[in-house]
Amino acid sequence: MAELGPSPLAAGNELPVAVARRAIADALRPISGRETVPLMAALGRVLAEDVVSPIDVPAHDNSAMDGYAFRSADLRADGPTCLAVTGPTVLAGMLPAAAVGTGQCVRIMTGAVMPAGLDTVVPQELCEVAGGLVTMAPGLLRAGENRRKQGEDLARGKPALAAGRVLGPAELGLVASLGIAELGVVRRLRVALFSTGNELRTLGQALDEGCIYDSNRYSLMGALARLGVEVIDLGLVPDDPVRLAATLDEAIASADVVLTSGGVSVGDADYTKDLLASRGEVAFWKVAMRPGRPFAFGPLHGANGKTAWLFALPGNPVAALVTFYVFARDALLALAGAQPRPLPALKARSVAAIRKRPGRSEFQRGIVSPAAGGGWEVRLTGAQGAGILRSMTEANALVVLQHDQGSVAVGDEVEVWLFDGLA
Ligand code: AMP
Ligand code: MG
Repeated sequence: MAELGPSPLAAGNELPVAVARRAIADALRPISGRETVPLMAALGRVLAEDVVSPIDVPAHDNSAMDGYAFRSADLRADGPTCLAVTGPTVLAGMLPAAAVGTGQCVRIMTGAVMPAGLDTVVPQELCEVAGGLVTMAPGLLRAGENRRKQGEDLARGKPALAAGRVLGPAELGLVASLGIAELGVVRRLRVALFSTGNELRTLGQALDEGCIYDSNRYSLMGALARLGVEVIDLGLVPDDPVRLAATLDEAIASADVVLTSGGVSVGDADYTKDLLASRGEVAFWKVAMRPGRPFAFGPLHGANGKTAWLFALPGNPVAALVTFYVFARDALLALAGAQPRPLPALKARSVAAIRKRPGRSEFQRGIVSPAAGGGWEVRLTGAQGAGILRSMTEANALVVLQHDQGSVAVGDEVEVWLFDGLA
């Protein structure tokens, strides 16, 4: 954690977002636990080791079309190619029954094994068949066309998927095509989550005077679910040192990551920070960003040498979610052993001017839509306060105004992060 000490990370300085992100990335190492799961249970999991192909896929040269297979040496460039049809028809799943000679062709179906010596297939709709002869016009086909080569998808002995890959639908199919029924995956990252604040009530409780419902736990559980981590929901903790200490120790004992919201801003009771500081080397940052200035990160130590990483997010609902995406998302993926999967960013023209002062990053809520002249345009979703969660629900993207950037004029390009990619 030496990286967290020196300037510009020293207390008091406003930390650029990029510096904070780098400090987090540098501090973390992937968890090491492995487990073997059946293929159907591997969706969304992180591959623990390379999958090396035990076979060629496809296992034989085969036809990509329903048509007639023949030798490309028989193709004529100066006039129609005319070939005698021999039998029997080669169907998918069987081996060719008879040899096919020079000047001959055989009817073949998609996926069927190419008879020895044949390398080209004329699709049935591109040729004429009459009196046992197949005729095709010159220049119609190139040598080798409509033949899938043995091993063209996956070659035996070659890595088919690299460790760190997050397994999606296509990866499951690819592994199945290799005949592999179980995979070694990284164990799920365990993230303990709780909200802090005396004013918070949980769903099902009466909303006492002056109180609000805890929304952060639900936003964050949603964001965590999309990352495929195991969530340990520790509920609500009032601003009470004893309760907080007990919950924190339970979190450290049970999880790899402790994710909290609230309690780290300037106005908050000091014991929150004291307590966090007493459990490890936690850095309390004032990040040069809006929303989300207060943020704490660092290792927490529990009993028996157990360590967990703290990500203490600000309490304001928009700030909590934005800081999750900016600081926690990539970090959790890295801890989970996944290859980097940066948020999908694109450029959109702003339909309105946006005031912005250089020296801090801003993450405003926007609606990205196709622009009339091509490309994308973006407009903001009204009031942008850190407590206005509606600004997130009405948006489909974050408008990312960079640290050194100044005000945006109408028509200027800005970076946007699409919510649909925020997994
Ligand atoms: P804090 O960071 O604890 O000072 O909280 C900042 C603001 O966020 C206050 O208005 C809190 O009431 C609000 N807040 C804190 N935690 C939550 C939560 N879990 N759900 C909704 N609002 C919250
Ligand atoms: Mg609070």
